Amino acid sequence: MRILLIEDEPKMTSYLRKGLTEASYTVYIADNGEDGLFLALNEDFDLVVLDIMLPGIDGLKVLKELRKQKETPVLLLTARDTVDDKVEGLEAGADDYLSKPFAYAELLARIRSLLRRAPRAVKDILRIGDLEVDLIKRRVRRGDARLELTAQEFALLQLLAERQGEVLTRQFITSQIWDMNFDSDTNVVDAAVKRLRAKIDNTYSNKLLHTVRGMGYVLEDRS
Ligand code: CA
Repeated sequence: MRILLIEDEPKMTSYLRKGLTEASYTVYIADNGEDGLFLALNEDFDLVVLDIMLPGIDGLKVLKELRKQKETPVLLLTARDTVDDKVEGLEAGADDYLSKPFAYAELLARIRSLLRRAPRAVKDILRIGDLEVDLIKRRVRRGDARLELTAQEFALLQLLAERQGEVLTRQFITSQIWDMNFDSDTNVVDAAVKRLRAKIDNTYSNKLLHTVRGMGYVLEDRS
């Protein structure tokens, strides 16, 4: 299950990312309304957790723009606890509403409830050539062979597989897998890709994980 968290407070995002990742959700983060709206419109998420108070475009505006095109479930978060905000949020198409400060257990309960209601937007098994990534059982196969991946290798493969055919920059990969900023050492990504490649590609003639010089990495079947 993929959750997009649109929230500008670093403490809140790292706290929620940790909790939701432990609850087996895949968490994507945007720290402003503009990036959040772009991601919500261009990617498929099972749920968007959206803070109202954001720099630039605020959460209500993001919600209104999103609802013109998509019905992704949205849980609104806000520090403002007035009836007007709540009504405006629900009228703009929010599926639920939670006021800060909230207990993490309550957030998790609301997320689970929303996800039970929503139809699944994302596939359970991703396939690239003869590579099969089972997101539920967290298993990877290539042809008849079962491949053993570490948790980090699996996270990297899932990221690439969910965006197969799309070139992912080292900066983007770093931000999604290690929760670091772009100016941190991108050699970490190169080393992780090398380890993943050793498992999924090295002994196969049809390579799936490609380096795009000067840009990043892409997972695709070019055969
Ligand atoms: Ca905020």
